[in-house]
Amino acid sequence: MNRATHSGRRLTQGNMNHLVVCGINYHSAPIAIRERFCIPDSCVGHALEGLKHFRHIKESAILSTCNRTEVYAVVDDVAAGLREIQTFFQSVQAVSDHGSLKPNFRLLRDDVVLHLLRVASGLDSMVLGEGQIMSQVKAAHQTALEHRSTGPVLDMIFKLALTCGKRVRSETSMGKRAVSVSSAAVELAREALGSLKDKNTTVVGLGKMGQICVKHLLGENGKPIILLNRSASRLDGFLQNKLSNRDRLATGFDYSERAAIAAQSDLVIVASGSNEYVLGPTDLGKHRHADSPRQVIIDISVPRAVDPAVADLEGVQLFVADDLAKIVGRNLAEREALVSEAEVIVFEVLESFHNWERSQLVVPTITGLREKIEAIRQEQMAKNSATPGVESDFSSKSDMESISRAIVNQILHHPTVHLKATKDYEILRQQAEALRKLFNLDPIAANPHSVSHTPETLNVTGRYKNGRQGRLSKH
Ligand code: NAP
Repeated sequence: MNRATHSGRRLTQGNMNHLVVCGINYHSAPIAIRERFCIPDSCVGHALEGLKHFRHIKESAILSTCNRTEVYAVVDDVAAGLREIQTFFQSVQAVSDHGSLKPNFRLLRDDVVLHLLRVASGLDSMVLGEGQIMSQVKAAHQTALEHRSTGPVLDMIFKLALTCGKRVRSETSMGKRAVSVSSAAVELAREALGSLKDKNTTVVGLGKMGQICVKHLLGENGKPIILLNRSASRLDGFLQNKLSNRDRLATGFDYSERAAIAAQSDLVIVASGSNEYVLGPTDLGKHRHADSPRQVIIDISVPRAVDPAVADLEGVQLFVADDLAKIVGRNLAEREALVSEAEVIVFEVLESFHNWERSQLVVPTITGLREKIEAIRQEQMAKNSATPGVESDFSSKSDMESISRAIVNQILHHPTVHLKATKDYEILRQQAEALRKLFNLDPIAANPHSVSHTPETLNVTGRYKNGRQGRLSKH
């Protein structure tokens, strides 16, 4: 495969299918904007139903995580399809009050596949190689399947993305790094406060992320860690786990007391799915005094669960998810090595997509051609055997049958071998189209599985600049 061609071509409008991704992510927007595009898990199905009503969107899936809200789609007209996705984003509750907020990340065609492969592999996460993204990609696909919004193209790229993610984690050193947003948050806390051993700590929100935070915090001895969660059941469930240094955990506090408890802590980590702030400057400020300790609050929630105005309180240092970039930006050499190891796999899987894509042109074209010629052969055989005065004894009939079959096979041999061997998708498409025209077969556009690769004049943002070291440009 020619890597240089990934970004060079652009797509034509016309009666073809085009793969696009459109949305917003941490490369293209800070958390204050990104959080307004968030689509909670419980709303993704409803959002997909909305996308199904747009005329030019033929397949769709939504990936909404703390790093991104992206709509993956197959559209029959790039410009119209992207406009429809933009309209969809405007209808998302959290951004409807702000007309100027538009999705500013778009990729087309091969770049979409490459992007999703990298996303699933953790290569596009702020915390390089974090593992949660795999289950998020899987859930995005599953929800799209349940709502029947995907089709063959998106199904294929999501399946390949999961395969890619699994391979990267099992075949490269990436899988050996037990990293997550939570582990980066604990590292950031250590950096901001020095040793955590003598620090009073509170964790608010004990979902997946909060629990991982607590496990990291328990990794060493120290003062009690207060756990606060809205529902008692989740907290109880967590406490059933085998935990090291578990006697450090302090539970039994009322969630409504969180501001008072947090105000007395040196470190507060918040990982909440709440749509409203769970800590604000007024409630926290009320419980802080002139002699209160210097306090670090790390809010990894997206949307943010701690009011940013908390940062204005005397002695409070507030960090949000985007601040983790400071931690993860370190050890660049190590990161680059990990990325290049993993990207070998990404490009192998991309090649599998190309093979599948080519087969979507080759198989129906060869089948159509074979059926057409076979129909001609049978018609001629029938005419011949029905010719008055021509004696058709059994042996001459079967001779004719095998001779005519051999001729058909001979005729089809070269085009079959040639089509299968053609690697360049665009050349293959032209050849398949020519064969279909010359032999009066159904046009390729009627085939819903094929995705266009033809150039067009649409400007796209966030394009991968080159194959291996693809980086997304800011818009
Ligand atoms: P999760 O497993 O679904 O847990 C959600 C947590 O938020 C639970 O503790 C839940 O409490 C609490 N919560 C939800 N709605 C609430 C409300 N209205 N009031 C108070 N508490 C509420 O989610 P998660 O994966 O841990 O993610 C938590 C946050 O971290 C999210 O903002 C997410 O975007 C962000 N984040 C997630 C990841 C990731 O990879 N998953 C990475 C970085 C950041 P109950 O037990 O009472 O429901």
